[in-house]
Amino acid sequence: MNLSIPEIYLKSVVNGVTAPPILDDIITREVWYSNEPIRIQQAPLRSVSDCVDIATSDFQRGPWRGYSRSKRRDVLLSWAKHISDSSSKLSLLNCAETGRALSEIRTDSVPKAISALVWFAEAIDKHEDRSLHPGNRDNDFAVVKQEPVGVVAAILPWNDPLVTLMWKVAPALAAGNTVIVKPSEQATAVVVAAVKLAHSAGVPMSTLQVLTGNGEVGDLLITHAAVDMIAFTGSTRTAQKIVSRSHAVGIRRTALECGGKGPFILGRESSDLKKFSSVVARNIFYNQGQVCSAPSIILVPRGSGHKIANLVQVEAIRYCPDTPTEGKVGYMISRSAVSGVRDLLSSLEDRNFWGELSDRRLPPRSCALSMTPTIIVDLSDESELLCTELFAPVLIIKEYDLLEDAITFCNKCPYGLAGGVWSDNLDECIHVASALRVGNMHVNSWGDDGNSVPFGGIKNSGYGREKSLSTFDDYTHTKSIYIRAGFASR
Ligand code: NAD
Repeated sequence: MNLSIPEIYLKSVVNGVTAPPILDDIITREVWYSNEPIRIQQAPLRSVSDCVDIATSDFQRGPWRGYSRSKRRDVLLSWAKHISDSSSKLSLLNCAETGRALSEIRTDSVPKAISALVWFAEAIDKHEDRSLHPGNRDNDFAVVKQEPVGVVAAILPWNDPLVTLMWKVAPALAAGNTVIVKPSEQATAVVVAAVKLAHSAGVPMSTLQVLTGNGEVGDLLITHAAVDMIAFTGSTRTAQKIVSRSHAVGIRRTALECGGKGPFILGRESSDLKKFSSVVARNIFYNQGQVCSAPSIILVPRGSGHKIANLVQVEAIRYCPDTPTEGKVGYMISRSAVSGVRDLLSSLEDRNFWGELSDRRLPPRSCALSMTPTIIVDLSDESELLCTELFAPVLIIKEYDLLEDAITFCNKCPYGLAGGVWSDNLDECIHVASALRVGNMHVNSWGDDGNSVPFGGIKNSGYGREKSLSTFDDYTHTKSIYIRAGFASR
């Protein structure tokens, strides 16, 4: 991690966290919250195996696995209460470190993380084991049980650290596993603080540990032979590395939540284009476009592209760093993220940048950490941007002739996380919802979300599901136990 002092300082000041500059060197950083420094250290590499030894022993001998389900539930509910009581501090830490708008963290991220934790705590004693008849002896039966997988390595990204923490750790602990969390080196402080609150709430320190550091630490963790499961959220490129490196050591459970390029199709029979454009703008420019499931490409009927671009631009003004936004616009994660996107856009012509707000590859208007909402039109069908995850406030608008062409285009994309359709015609909606190869589909909406509904991708967006009871399938394995009746006369 190589953020300079002024960059982090800028994030802190702009986001209203009055704090001294955050010190940054690669091994040790201090995030200043109020007058209290929080020191973030990269874990010494040798400590990875110590951590795994502690986790293995915890899983084999307890205490966590030996707790009754109701005790595990009560401890997790108490953790949720601790997080709720500390929500201001956690929000400020997240904001200071990543530059995300404080209002988004307060009103979206923290409440979402708490509600996921409460949901999984309450689900602990709601799922049932099954009993089946194995064959020809009527009184015999088999019990099919779900058992915890073991030591789970949870590798997190920076873009929503609290929510991604809870989507993994809450179901993993609820199911009786032991967890080692490796937060992103770019969003560590808030995860460390949240885990400390778990310990205060009664989660044993050996049951939930944090290993701070970069990909080198992550690599040591996922290649440790005693790790039973890897639950990863991050880029597709890192996921590919993790799969090949960790499976070379031994076969183990893997759940991958990776990148996306969400296609949103505007059908031919759509009357409320203003509403559609507002939904698009709200979802692609939120968190400076750094959302895996954002609608980053919209497909619209031939001839309507420029009209939609105008409508989206009107809405996009709210997400422009240069306009009064009541603290609603945050920053991108790093200068290198901004310059990487600018490099990708640099091959485009001026005609591809739509409207006054668009970035047009000029020097940044506010600072090196932000981008103005950018709308790209008229790309050639060969443009690599059509299928590349930009992770920035950039919307691509592509026109189609036939609905089937739009569907074919979407399904050729290597990602398959979120998709959407907007139309007054129910048949058209149902057809597109069934035809798109994605894990999550939105009909006449985008971004709807609930703890009881599974979330996850297919293709290069990964596999496994977060949230919902389905997640317990990832964090448990199935054990079949045959019970022979009539023991005495066997
Ligand atoms: P990243 O892949 O750079 O890093 C993710 C994590 O992996 C970090 O903790 C990092 O330290 C670790 N890591 C890096 N190299 C490693 C290695 N060789 N072995 C083990 N661990 C390693 O991703 P990022 O930049 O932190 O996050 C942005 C990406 O995450 C985007 O692609 C976004 O789409 C994706 N994301 C997906 C979802 C989802 O639910 N599908 C949610 C949020 C973010």
